[in-house]
Amino acid sequence: MQEFRYRQAKTVESALRANGTYLAGGTTLVDLMKLNVLQPALVVDVNPLPLAQVEALPGGELKGGLRIGAMVRNSDLANHPAVKQNYTVLSEALLSGASPQLRNMATTGGNLLQKTRCYYYRDTNYACNKRQPGSGCPAIDGFNRIHAVLGGSAECVATHPSDMAVAMMALEATVHTQGPGGERAIALKDFYLLPGTTPEKENVLEPGELITHVTLPAPESGTRSHYLKLRDRAQYEFALASAAVVVRLHGRRMERVRIALGGVGTRPWRSAEAERSLEGREATAENFRKAADAAMKDAKPLKYNSFKVELAKKALVRALETAAQTEQRG
Ligand code: SF4
Repeated sequence: MQEFRYRQAKTVESALRANGTYLAGGTTLVDLMKLNVLQPALVVDVNPLPLAQVEALPGGELKGGLRIGAMVRNSDLANHPAVKQNYTVLSEALLSGASPQLRNMATTGGNLLQKTRCYYYRDTNYACNKRQPGSGCPAIDGFNRIHAVLGGSAECVATHPSDMAVAMMALEATVHTQGPGGERAIALKDFYLLPGTTPEKENVLEPGELITHVTLPAPESGTRSHYLKLRDRAQYEFALASAAVVVRLHGRRMERVRIALGGVGTRPWRSAEAERSLEGREATAENFRKAADAAMKDAKPLKYNSFKVELAKKALVRALETAAQTEQRG
């Protein structure tokens, strides 16, 4: 690990002024600093910031939606009654991630900014365009079992690792930030960038910009949701394919559907094609399968990950079946 300076910020303004790399739960940053993948000169600890609340926005009974502070721990968010009851997909996604110890540390803001698990990115003995722009991508012709089949480029095919972000994508979350240019509200669907020719730039945050909170829209009545994660082992493992679905049913008719996939895309993957293929139709196995085909129609598998195409389809069909059967709201 390289030497670095450390500073604690007690206010958002002092964090911005410090102009360093933000440390929240540390579950990504500290790991990658130990591996010399990230070498910040100044670490700004934002743990003292007053951003650890989950609050209903004005409107009564969540009609204004939910505000989640950037420092809310993953375990607190997953187990918050309003989240369990009204945003089930988010609670399920959080509880499927990492281990209890990690969830007790990891934060909402940090989870959105998780770094890829690409083996080559995490090993400085290898080239990596994301770590060192222009150096090459050994994953494209190398061992690429865990890599992306959607959204990849000739420069990078790394998957985004977050479960939480996939659920938030299906819930149409908004990310709120504060930075040198003031405050911004960014729809999560516009937050992540495709790798293109600049895989080192993963999102639209400007240097120094800090995530302060995330908002979720009000839950709609008649809505059910579910997160299904498929992986090599049952716990403490990243997704090979996952599906987050939010469905509003009227009888058996699907009035509104939101779908996002994890483990298969270079960013948490919202599928407008799958949503369009379901809205206005009956909740049937045949329609679910058609939606899964639509979601994966642009997939470009690599040598070792073609299995992900069918796996993602199965995850989506199963998640839709489960959501359509459940009686609970959210
Ligand atoms: Fe680096 Fe992306 Fe290639 Fe992995 S897939 S080695 S992160 S450029």
